[in-house]
Amino acid sequence: IQFAPDAVVGLDRDGAVRAEVHGSRAHMLARLTTLGLPVPPGVALSFDCVRHLAEGGPMPKLPPRSAPDRLLCLRPSPRDRAWGGPSATLNIGITARDIAAVEAAIGVVEARELYARLISTYALMVHGVDPEGFEALAHRILGPGPRQPEAMRATTEAMLRLYAEETDEEFPDDAADQLEGIARAMALDWDRASARILRQAKGGPAEGGLGLIVQELALGVAPGVSGAGHIQIVDPRTGAPSVDGAFLPGKQRAVTRPGSRRTGVLLARGRREGCDQPALEEMCPEALEALRGYAGQAAQGLGDAVQLYFILENGAVSVVDAVPARRGARASVRIAVDLANRGAITREQALLRVEPRNLIEHLHPQIDASAARDVWGGGLAASPGAATGYMVFTSEAAMQAAAQGEDTILVRLETGPEDVRGMHAAKGVLTIRGGMTSHAAVLARGLGLPAVVGASDLRLDLEGRRLVTPDARVLHEGALITIDGTRGEVLAGAPRMVAPDLGGALAELLDWADAARDLGVRANADTPADSRVARDFRCDGLGLCRTEHMFFDPARLTVMREMILADTPEERRAALDLLLPMQRADFEEIFSIMRGMPVTIRLLDPPLNEFLPHDEDEMEHLASAMGIPAGQVKARARELAEVNPMLGMRGVRLGVALPEIYEMQARAIFEAAIAVNRDARDPVVPEVMIPLVSAYREVELVKHRIDAVARAVEEEQGEKLDFSLGVMVETPRAALRAGDLAEVSEFLSFGTNDLTQMTYGLSRDDAGRFMRDYVREGVFPEDPFHTLDIEGVGELMLIAARRGRARNPNLKLGLCGEHGGDPASVRFCRLAGFDYVSCSPFRVPIARLAAAQATI
Ligand code: PEP
Ligand code: MG
Repeated sequence: IQFAPDAVVGLDRDGAVRAEVHGSRAHMLARLTTLGLPVPPGVALSFDCVRHLAEGGPMPKLPPRSAPDRLLCLRPSPRDRAWGGPSATLNIGITARDIAAVEAAIGVVEARELYARLISTYALMVHGVDPEGFEALAHRILGPGPRQPEAMRATTEAMLRLYAEETDEEFPDDAADQLEGIARAMALDWDRASARILRQAKGGPAEGGLGLIVQELALGVAPGVSGAGHIQIVDPRTGAPSVDGAFLPGKQRAVTRPGSRRTGVLLARGRREGCDQPALEEMCPEALEALRGYAGQAAQGLGDAVQLYFILENGAVSVVDAVPARRGARASVRIAVDLANRGAITREQALLRVEPRNLIEHLHPQIDASAARDVWGGGLAASPGAATGYMVFTSEAAMQAAAQGEDTILVRLETGPEDVRGMHAAKGVLTIRGGMTSHAAVLARGLGLPAVVGASDLRLDLEGRRLVTPDARVLHEGALITIDGTRGEVLAGAPRMVAPDLGGALAELLDWADAARDLGVRANADTPADSRVARDFRCDGLGLCRTEHMFFDPARLTVMREMILADTPEERRAALDLLLPMQRADFEEIFSIMRGMPVTIRLLDPPLNEFLPHDEDEMEHLASAMGIPAGQVKARARELAEVNPMLGMRGVRLGVALPEIYEMQARAIFEAAIAVNRDARDPVVPEVMIPLVSAYREVELVKHRIDAVARAVEEEQGEKLDFSLGVMVETPRAALRAGDLAEVSEFLSFGTNDLTQMTYGLSRDDAGRFMRDYVREGVFPEDPFHTLDIEGVGELMLIAARRGRARNPNLKLGLCGEHGGDPASVRFCRLAGFDYVSCSPFRVPIARLAAAQATI
């Protein structure tokens, strides 16, 4: 039978061996051969050829071996290695006639061991004979102690007889027959129903192709320095040049079976614990030198760091496979940058090689991958990084501990404005309730503080001062715990940590990202400290400064409360006059830090009742500060209470109802900008942003007042003011009416936290309770507060962008919800033609890389 010419292809003809025809291993070996690595000669059988074999077709005619006594092996080469498949069969070609030559080459005992292995493998694969019978036979003849040549000979002879009894035929005494039997068995095995199901479970198609490689065998059991091993020349944790791998003297395979303790000797000088053999470098330095060279050559030629599988036959190196080098998240950055700097890949390719989320590992302390983990519970991975500290249940305790230099993890049911200072003092936060955009999550990400939220399996027993797991294990207040905000886990004790590392390769990669991207990356920063972090992460400005955080300082809160509870316009103005210089000072500091860059200040947003006193103590304190009866404070608080504050008097509604607040904020912004720009070479351009808009008239009203404040400040100061005014698109109505809004706005910034909440009708603060179940059940592909729901929320954004730009072609578009740091959402914004995304300072590097990838 004639085979198509591509059914049989020599490995030495590169280009003819293709992964989609012959499988990925064959393709890799062909490439290594072309690069000049010492790959033993062989032949690749295509998927078609292997399918024919399964259907009963004959074995193709193979080219002759380089020497008649060379043994062969048969290795599987599926389209994708991840699909699994049969394991390789070695030592094909030992026959009664040739065994003497093999014995002469490697010794009688060694040669007979290979023969024994071949007989039992062949019996199993071709006839399904249980290997136990052969093992028992060998055990009987050989007995305990070292193996003797004559006993070994007797064993293989007895095995041949057993084979004939079990199968009613003689063991094939010809290399070609052995090869054909095993190749057909592998082909049939690949087609079996169980193998097809397994393949599908591993993400491959049931019909996926299997190629086979017939290859001359490099004998790891030869005299001299012989064996099998693997090597990579980059450190799997850091990506720095180093030698990593193992060598198994006298073995034929580099990989030990799972569960086996045999890990081989080190490659480079040094000793492995419990192993007294010298390293390969000491046994055969030339071999190690050659291997390093080959690994370097492969990296350069393939454009990626690889792990080479090799065989040493009396010191001579054969390369039998290569796979991408093992690497952790940090190493992936260093490897990509080094490859680009050596010209093995372009900078663009390097940028595409690194998963943006992997940068998290660089930015925050992480639990060492090799450390033992005593996990007690979990929740949403709300803010990455890991932190260890003593468990405290109140913000006060966190602050007290911090004053004494003690690290704490603040554990709360959920956090609120009163916990802001506690969160600043703690090393990490754990909340029982809450979702990805809950107070704790948003604030923690902003602070770069590790956080796990919505850990609803854990019960916080405040009376008993303890945390209880579902299986009734108990951690008492003061216990040392660790939270892993990257994985969303709570651990007992203090596992070993790895410190953050922002310099070196990461800095270089991010420089390349900046050169490649055409989407701005701004930061969400509320305080001068956050702004400094954001600037150090090289953002392009601030896309969101939430001014409410500036009012939660206790001293300011009292004044704010006085303002809200004021009875007369005069009283209100007096309180605002006190707040003005405080706000102005904040803005001056932020503007100075962000010189030369745009800064978007959002006017006050949270529900009014968040500022009101909550308990008796607070009410009395306020009453005495204001010199009014406590009853009056209580009555006013009752009056202002809302059933659903999230949808009540917040955002622009507050600005319309109490215009003095926004006027004061606008004045503070403008006065600060003029003061800072007076002596600055790089002027800052404030962008005033109105939150939670849903109607044109809201913007018109507020804009009118802000423009009036701007004119007044210009007149008072005798300086021209440059600023822009825009709105947040956070309600579905604002998205649909974006055309109207664009007429009175210079920019639209999508607040996708609220926009997601309002599009789904899903409370951002309560979603954590069922989000994990929803994602597990496939209701949502992912948490929509974490990665943008492109189908729903995304469509609203596209509608808004189109309608807005149709009415105002110069309209700037940005996104400032938590999605601004999510790579898939960043890509969406780039494709939608946005000008920028804005995210927490610690996610700026991730967004810079994601923006570059979306641009390339
Ligand atoms: C938003 O809603 O997306 C937003 C940025 O505002 P906040 O999270 O402060 O409501
Ligand atoms: Mg919002």
